[in-house]
Amino acid sequence: MPQISIVAPLYNEQESFPHLIKRLNAVMDSSTLTIEVVLVDDGSKDLTAQLMRDNALADERYHCVFLSRNHGHQLALTAGLAHARGSEAVMVIDGDLQDPPELLTEFYDYLSKGYDVIYAVRKKRKEGFLKKSAYFLFYRILKSISYIDIPLDSGDFSMISRRVVDIMNKMPEESRYLRGMRTWIGFKQIGVEYERAERQAGESKYSLKLLFRLAYNGIFNFSEFPIKFVSRLGAFGVLVSLLYFFAVIIKKYFFQEVIEGFTSLLFMIIFFSGIQLFALGVIGEYVLRVFFQSKNRPLYIVKETIVDKKYQ
Ligand code: UDP
Ligand code: MG
Repeated sequence: MPQISIVAPLYNEQESFPHLIKRLNAVMDSSTLTIEVVLVDDGSKDLTAQLMRDNALADERYHCVFLSRNHGHQLALTAGLAHARGSEAVMVIDGDLQDPPELLTEFYDYLSKGYDVIYAVRKKRKEGFLKKSAYFLFYRILKSISYIDIPLDSGDFSMISRRVVDIMNKMPEESRYLRGMRTWIGFKQIGVEYERAERQAGESKYSLKLLFRLAYNGIFNFSEFPIKFVSRLGAFGVLVSLLYFFAVIIKKYFFQEVIEGFTSLLFMIIFFSGIQLFALGVIGEYVLRVFFQSKNRPLYIVKETIVDKKYQ
């Protein structure tokens, strides 16, 4: 058994692939630990799968998992975690080298000191202003409304001990937000600062839509805020309408004024139907999650694996 597994999900990463292998080889060659690399092909449409195959057949330290189609970054990672055999820990990195694999040694030092989760904290992000600000805001909002203490500015890049990986593998939740699950598990966790590099080659595989979905999963899976907010909004609405009602009565009986007519009525109808639709949407979001989870489908489908016999 290898001591450490490095897991990287890949989706259309043919440009960064050679760089990735070079860096990973250097890390493995210079380390005294036994290391395997688990690469997960998330249904790539370019040459990634072929490159992975050729590389794994030539180098037994590489272990490949091919998914049946594109399942998304979080599920590809989930598949990687399930296939990793590292007996001590698993290190999770992005396949585009934004997360330097060289941090393995530093992470491993903390592991030896008894930490179960060592997560990387981004000091600086080399990304566009809009994306950077969106991330900044999102992490702070999530922290303030979440019922667990999700660390700021940390992603999936981390080293996770064998026992925590085993627990994650047993968590059946369908809409996965791995960094939240990792935090929820507990044990001793520590953050290590690093500078997030730019993508080595190619383009980001995360569209804005996918990023929003990830953010949604973070919020709806690790916070009760939306549903509680809706009931508070409802209570507030009732209060406002009661105040309005009293104001109208007082005006009518004490000042003999006629109720302001149509406009305010129209305003109230539009305002409250807006609140109701919003509330329905939030409740729908929870119902949808229960619906998908209740199907009990497997999280992802593996088409094929390439694994060295030595470790089987
Ligand atoms: N990725 C994946 N499946 C997807 C999208 C992305 O496996 O559907 C991989 C991608 O190949 C990369 C990692 O997840 O190794 C992070 O994606 P990306 O760099 O595009 O995201 P960003 O760094 O821009 O947030
Ligand atoms: Mg990236």
